[in-house]
Amino acid sequence: MASRTLEARFERMSVNDENGESRMYQKSKVTTTTTQLSHSTSRPGLFKVALQSQNANTVSATVTLPSQAAQRKALPSSQPVPQSPARKEKEKATASSSRSSDELAVAERKSDSYVDQPLTPKLFHLGMFEIGRPLGKGKFGRVYLARERNSNFICALKVLYKSELQHGSGVEKQVRREIEIQSNLRHPNILKLYGHFHDSKRIFLILEFAGKGELYKHLRKENRFPEWKAAQYIAQMASALRYLHRKHVIHRDIKPENILMGIHGEIKISDFGWSVHAPKNRRATLCGTLDYLPPEMIRSGSKDNYYNEKVDLWSLGVLTYEFLVGEAPFYEEHAPLTQRRIARADMTIPEWVSKEAKDLIRKLLVLDPEDRLPLEEVQTHPWIIKHCVKGGDRAVKATK
Ligand code: ATP
Ligand code: MG
Repeated sequence: MASRTLEARFERMSVNDENGESRMYQKSKVTTTTTQLSHSTSRPGLFKVALQSQNANTVSATVTLPSQAAQRKALPSSQPVPQSPARKEKEKATASSSRSSDELAVAERKSDSYVDQPLTPKLFHLGMFEIGRPLGKGKFGRVYLARERNSNFICALKVLYKSELQHGSGVEKQVRREIEIQSNLRHPNILKLYGHFHDSKRIFLILEFAGKGELYKHLRKENRFPEWKAAQYIAQMASALRYLHRKHVIHRDIKPENILMGIHGEIKISDFGWSVHAPKNRRATLCGTLDYLPPEMIRSGSKDNYYNEKVDLWSLGVLTYEFLVGEAPFYEEHAPLTQRRIARADMTIPEWVSKEAKDLIRKLLVLDPEDRLPLEEVQTHPWIIKHCVKGGDRAVKATK
């Protein structure tokens, strides 16, 4: 029910560029045009949290967010988490930085059982959460495991520092945009944003907890995925991207680092709206930042770098390749060489990759965006059908 209302709300929302064109985008110039977004600091609906930061000397940054009243949902209603003694090893491993309780760790393992509970509107503040172990560190802040005290709902709390956001030009706008877009998406393979709140120094995003962490980490550990597993991941990606594109949302930054994994090994796409102003640079030192960019986004003399949702199809092709081969198809030590290879779609697929998988990769990594295999056809491609029961229209368990 709740998700239906949301869907309906989202249908009315689209992401337009500043020229008002609804499906063409110019890099760095994307804005949302929903009525719920306000850029004014004096906006009456702007939620103020009583909880202040410890350091009273810090000048409060002026970052405005969508009103909490505009937040569609809160955390699920209360259900006690059973106690269990079986969590000690995990606790020990994170003891130095963690304040997690027994309940928290048990609930962590059980978090999926809360995900589908009905949502009730609520205003959030930090005191409502018990903070657990750090889950990771991003460009602008940290992410912690957290539990909402009343409901025992387990989530990930992403903490962004307003002062840091203000240093990067346009980053504040990107945060607002990420909140607005991601909180309106409901798909099993897209990381949910349940809500947000802020205090004088920080912005908190209440995110779905992805129990198995980064896909990138799993890929590095396994080096490359067996075809059945890769196919199931790609089917889930195709399903999620189809959903996004129907909502006129282009991810634009599909790569293993931006994909998290749920407790059952299902894919959770994350990092919406960050690619333009806050590119990840974890890859920069390893293999350049260009690997997943399609030719239409890297063309030099780039006044004409307009692109549409087909950019995600190219990235899906790169992802398929990297899952199966263990490295990106256009990988070169030096960025200009990668760029040249992308511009020519110059890649070699190793012999040991199955012919169905090769076929899919070749149909996605096509220079002309209009000639790339549409997502519906990705879902029914022989390689996907061979390895997936349902062509990826629902989340498929990809591990075990
Ligand atoms: P960026 O600031 O560009 O988004 P990032 O993706 O590295 O960079 P975050 O999104 O802040 O930064 O996340 C940092 C790390 O925390 C992730 O790489 C991941 O390991 C972990 N993490 C983030 N969100 C979650 C989540 N919802 N569930 C579990 N782990 C998470
Ligand atoms: Mg991230």
